[in-house]
Amino acid sequence: MGKSQSSCPYAKACGGCQLQNLTYPQQLQYKQVKCIRLLGKFCHVEEILGMENPYHYRNKVQAAFARTRSGKIISGVYQAKSRRVVAVERCLIEDEKADEVIGTVRTLLGQFRLTPYDPDRQTGFLRHVLVKRGFQSGQLMVVLVTGSPAFPHKRDFLAALLKRHPEITTVLQNVNGAHTGMVLGARETVLYGPGKIEEQLGGCTFQISARAFYQINPVQTEVLYRKALEFAALRGTETVIDAYCGTGTIGIFAAKHAKTVVGVELNGDAVADARENARRNGIQNIRFIEADAGEFLTGMATAGERADVVFLDPPRAGSSLAFLRSLVSLAPARVVYISCNPETQQRDLLYLCKHGYRVRKIQPVDMFPHTNHVETVALLTRKQARLQAVNG
Ligand code: SAH
Repeated sequence: MGKSQSSCPYAKACGGCQLQNLTYPQQLQYKQVKCIRLLGKFCHVEEILGMENPYHYRNKVQAAFARTRSGKIISGVYQAKSRRVVAVERCLIEDEKADEVIGTVRTLLGQFRLTPYDPDRQTGFLRHVLVKRGFQSGQLMVVLVTGSPAFPHKRDFLAALLKRHPEITTVLQNVNGAHTGMVLGARETVLYGPGKIEEQLGGCTFQISARAFYQINPVQTEVLYRKALEFAALRGTETVIDAYCGTGTIGIFAAKHAKTVVGVELNGDAVADARENARRNGIQNIRFIEADAGEFLTGMATAGERADVVFLDPPRAGSSLAFLRSLVSLAPARVVYISCNPETQQRDLLYLCKHGYRVRKIQPVDMFPHTNHVETVALLTRKQARLQAVNG
């Protein structure tokens, strides 16, 4: 694991791997220092858990399509801070099969005389390709994101794609004609297969749909979830909340060791996946609510309901004040806060520490090698018994 800078020709133009110029051990050190700087005031920060092989870990790959001035079709990533597409044919962190499929789509566009979509002029056909791959299952989803519902030569295009890659298990068309930074639009049609893929994780099977969030680094997801469950120290008697639950993964693992679990998630597709995932893994003591996590928790707090353990795994912006306030009034004995942004986690931990909690453990996990992102799991416990707090 020497320096990888020289082996990625796109490093500078792409900008996605901010730590390319460091060796992997140096990257881990950098992230450790960052976590200590932001979170070290709360408690001791455990040593970051890194990957044995920190390459090609991304099981979800998306490529933007464009045409160069000379008319060549390229696909890749948006250059940092601009809308120009940087052509990328092989990426060191993406799944290699996904990159192959994207390369084939590029070739097929030329063969079928289809063009990349130009959002400014609203002309052309293909805007993005999204590939999701089951690391254990090998199942492969390809989503063709187009500017309009029209798909010239659809049948022949699909047949050619599947002939080149018989390992593809499902193909979807997603229509996104909006002027937006989002890759996927709201409209989706299944062109081949079931429209979803399955993946195995920690002895359970999970269904993943195109628009639902699913962790992008399967190897480290196991490491992360194992820590989160260890921190929760469930005994089988607890009422548990899995907030920002995505497709229900954490809650489903927790349900095996708890009395009952409620998962709450804003994205309807993810909630549908979560319910199906619970059913297919035979987990009956879990239910999922489609709602804003803050509103849901406020409702629970107002109704005087209780929870013993709360997991929360919010997006980069962190949790909302409404959520944190209600969390404090629900007063769970343990809070397991999983975060992909230690800066917002620091802010939220500060609030919880001012309102009756103490941070007991912090474990960084390297989910995104070569980038400057770092994931952390924090365990908080209540300082006093709930009754005292209420009476006092
Ligand atoms: N715990 C899951 C997902 C974490 S990603 C996992 O490990 O896979 C964060 C999730 O929060 C996403 O699924 C996103 O859709 C959801 N989310 C974002 N804002 C939310 C909100 N205000 N209320 C509930 N869920 C929200």
